[in-house]
Amino acid sequence: MTTKEACVDRFDAMLEGRGVTRRRFLEFCGAIAVSLGLSEAMAPSVREALAASVIGKTEGKLAPVIWLELASCTGCTESLASAETPDVATIVLDLISLTYAETLSAGAGFSLEEAKEETIEAGGYIVVIEGAIMEGWDGNALKIANEKSTDIVRHAASNATAIICAGSCAVDGGWQAAVPNPGGAIGVQAFLERSKADGSFEHEVPPIINVPSCPSNPEHIIAVLVDVLLLGAPPALNEYGMPSLIFDQYIHDNCPRRGHFENGEFVYQFGSEEEKKGYCLYPMGCKGPQTKSNCPIVRWNRRVSWCVEAGAPCAGCANANPVKEGFNWVDLNTPFLKRFKNLLIGDIPIQPMTLAAGVTGLVVVALVVHGVGMKVTGRTKGGADFERERAWDTKHPDQAIGPASASEPVAKLNGRPAAAADPAAADADTADTDADAADASDTEHTEGGDE
Ligand code: SF4
Ligand code: SF4
Repeated sequence: MTTKEACVDRFDAMLEGRGVTRRRFLEFCGAIAVSLGLSEAMAPSVREALAASVIGKTEGKLAPVIWLELASCTGCTESLASAETPDVATIVLDLISLTYAETLSAGAGFSLEEAKEETIEAGGYIVVIEGAIMEGWDGNALKIANEKSTDIVRHAASNATAIICAGSCAVDGGWQAAVPNPGGAIGVQAFLERSKADGSFEHEVPPIINVPSCPSNPEHIIAVLVDVLLLGAPPALNEYGMPSLIFDQYIHDNCPRRGHFENGEFVYQFGSEEEKKGYCLYPMGCKGPQTKSNCPIVRWNRRVSWCVEAGAPCAGCANANPVKEGFNWVDLNTPFLKRFKNLLIGDIPIQPMTLAAGVTGLVVVALVVHGVGMKVTGRTKGGADFERERAWDTKHPDQAIGPASASEPVAKLNGRPAAAADPAAADADTADTDADAADASDTEHTEGGDE
């Protein structure tokens, strides 16, 4: 028997002793392989890598992890801890040595704080942060063990190998940062970069891996931990510091209802015949066309289902911008059951109809807008059903959310005050809105009962 096979056998025996079958663990490795952007057929390789790393580490020093819970609902911890029964994810985390976690640790009080201090002093650890940092009231908006969350994060980051932001609140403030944000919620990356710039953080900012969603998908977190701790290499990140393989594809592109979107077959009311037929949920507020995550592939609850498959429009909880205020998913996407007028490309809201009416060069841009695809190119008003939807939205601003023009600040979405609104842009927006409304005046909503 080779060393590799011996490792796998010992690991299987360890898992079986904790009630996890070999088959179940292989399924779990398949999910991790998919989250890492590999084929599910790579599951045995992931299993081998995990077994070799874990068995190797049980014979030496475990990789330490500090899990900080800041301003949050504990949903990300809960999501991870209840991912499986029996709990494969926790077994892997156990073996990783979770030296500090307010919710999961058996210890508490002084001894737990001391364990954290020792880990920070020794270095070579990973920090997982759940929840937002609260800067309000000079940092007194959130204190743990009589220490401000601002100081806790600066201290924990000072000697860390990497920081994993688990969930949208840690990425950009999430719910807590929604307007009016009285507690001064902010995401980890923006906070540490600003602290570095103003001199209140004197160390190098460690690599930050942003893993949005509300809550974070346990398989995303495990996949990143496997990458960083067990396989020894951080995942490839996009411009927002998010693992590219997880967050570089639109939900809309992998949605099983996409064919209905293309055919203009929409649900306009819950409980309707259209809903029973599984039509597209865009008019019910689905944010899949402007949200990037592999939810339709990795899914939730042991890969059983995910939001749209379960009949709920995507709320866009993976929308996050770690360094730009006002782009948190709550400000962007509420009210959740109202449709979005525009599509976002990066930070820029795009009006498909405006694009389609433009010069030929804009068609190239329009092609990038996956949510509209073929229906946008070469068409203006009155074309595809989706365009009539948008025209109807413009006529009924109270029935939809989102800016009425590409120049409108996104922070102004949903009638909320803009953080840095430009009065000139606002004037231009009003003119654009009027023009769009006029354009839409001869276009009718395609379904009854919604007017
Ligand atoms: S709008 Fe939503 S429900 Fe419709 S195809 Fe896109 S992701 Fe699926
Ligand atoms: S489908 Fe949308 S709302 Fe559901 S978890 Fe994914 S990003 Fe969040």
